[in-house]
Amino acid sequence: MNPNIKGDYQPSYWELQSFFNHIDVAILGSGIVGLSAAIYLKNQHPSLHVVILERGILPTGASTRNAGFTCFGSLSELIDDLQNNNESEVLELVSKRWEGLMRLRERVGDVALRYKGFGNYEIFTPEEVTSFENCKEQIPYFNEKLKGIINHHEVFKVADQKIAHFGFSGVQHLIHNQAEGQIHTGEMMKALLETATRKGVRIFNGVTIKNFQETAAGVELVTTAEQVLRCNKLLVATNGFSQHLLPELALQPARNQVLITEPIPNLRCKACFHYDRGYVYFRGIDNRILLGGRRNLALEQETTDEFGTTEDIKAALLKLLHEVILPERKVEVAHWWSGIMGVGAVKKPIVKKVGNHIVVAVRMGGMGVAIGSLVGEEGAKLVL
Ligand SMILES: Cc1cc2nc3c(=O)[nH]c(=O)nc-3n(C[C@H](O)[C@H](O)[C@H](O)COP(=O)(O)OP(=O)(O)OC[C@H]3O[C@@H](n4cnc5c(N)ncnc54)[C@H](O)[C@@H]3O)c2cc1C
Repeated sequence: MNPNIKGDYQPSYWELQSFFNHIDVAILGSGIVGLSAAIYLKNQHPSLHVVILERGILPTGASTRNAGFTCFGSLSELIDDLQNNNESEVLELVSKRWEGLMRLRERVGDVALRYKGFGNYEIFTPEEVTSFENCKEQIPYFNEKLKGIINHHEVFKVADQKIAHFGFSGVQHLIHNQAEGQIHTGEMMKALLETATRKGVRIFNGVTIKNFQETAAGVELVTTAEQVLRCNKLLVATNGFSQHLLPELALQPARNQVLITEPIPNLRCKACFHYDRGYVYFRGIDNRILLGGRRNLALEQETTDEFGTTEDIKAALLKLLHEVILPERKVEVAHWWSGIMGVGAVKKPIVKKVGNHIVVAVRMGGMGVAIGSLVGEEGAKLVL
């Protein structure tokens, strides 16, 4: 029973009739994926009764807690991906991220998203010269391949002349990805929530689903307050938390810790930056630096779906902030937080049926802002 509600609370006749009666599709999770799926379903079938069940008062995973990069892959990351996947798999994923971004931008609009197409940069320290040289050599190859997907004649280019402008220390090379950009994550999610509600999607917050099982007619869901809800179809969009519900999925949680500084006068760093194969990311926002990542320093510790920050990761991020990003500037951290992603050995999202009436759409990795809109739609199509 919910500890805040005393006694044997049973839903009333009115509640059963007006809120929980005949749910066509229940979606677990109101992150980017759950909301995109719900909006798609209502666009296609306005009369469908679509309900989202969300455990937090807000979406409480990654979608309201990320860095807001609209990214499809830094060069070193794409080269790294080619080690484990063939060329067509890597390019297919880039294409889906790009398509997902276009879908998000169409759905929410660049003004509401506060989209800025400054491009993103990848930074290389003196110890990473070999990696840089390898990336540089691959620029013509990737530019040629991406032309057909992204419609940009020169996605990647070396931008070492910008290092002095940004004022970094200990950075030897920069590669500019001219097709990536940035958004305001909070505004994106606010807009998606508003759109879903406007279209008639009912969002129930503070509902944690403990388990579910298929019946002949649909699915029965049990909440942690022991209430039972019934729906015809279920879409699970719980990403990094999915193992509690479906332990057989090849997916682990991955915590990411993030800081934001106090405002910094004359900050020149307004774009987004990737470092160390995407394990570190930072950007300018509202004259502050947002910096996160470094989970690769303590992979076991960060393979968790518990929110929180730790001294080791905080120290590593602070070192980077003070020694590399803003050397010789006195900068205070205003705020720390963390978010939970869903990752796996393979970067491709899992979108599949796991029963006659149940679909999962999870494992967004570090690029759910990019790919989440499309994955939500793919899940929605499968659920009908
Ligand atoms: C710190 C950080 C930085 C990131 N930066 C970027 C970036 O710059 N660009 C980018 O593209 N991606 C980034 N990502 C990744 C991106 O945010 C995610 O891939 C994306 O938000 C995943 O969306 P989702 O809808 O699948 O999952 P989530 O947003 O995690 O949503 C899942 C929802 O399910 C709910 N839920 C879970 N279990 C239950 C349950 N049992 N019952 C009811 N509700 C439940 C959760 O509360 C949550 O709201 C970042 C992630 C983090 C953590």
